[in-house]
Amino acid sequence: MEVADPDEPDEPEDLIEERTICGMRLEKTGRGCYLAYSQSRPETAYAVDINAYNGLGSCECDDFRFRRYPRWKTVRQPFDVLRCRHLRRVRTHVLDQIIKFYAKAEQQQ
Ligand SMILES: [Zn+2]
Repeated sequence: MEVADPDEPDEPEDLIEERTICGMRLEKTGRGCYLAYSQSRPETAYAVDINAYNGLGSCECDDFRFRRYPRWKTVRQPFDVLRCRHLRRVRTHVLDQIIKFYAKAEQQQ
């Protein structure tokens, strides 16, 4: 059975790969992988992967690499406080897509 990818929206307006969520520009690069553009420096983008580190996710920004990720090594729980703003924004975006996907699937039953 083919399982639809809830992270792969099928509505026409969702075909736009690039979107701005709450002021942050996101560009999908793969399943659970996005480029999140800096709000203060729009030419700067960070690669975000929400599936990395057992669901904690990863981001290329300094905040994640030097402040948050080192704490993951001791805590080992994917708490939101260990995620940078890019990671939290991408996760919210993906969760919104999943909720829409299931709401639509329920309507079709
Ligand atoms: Zn980040």
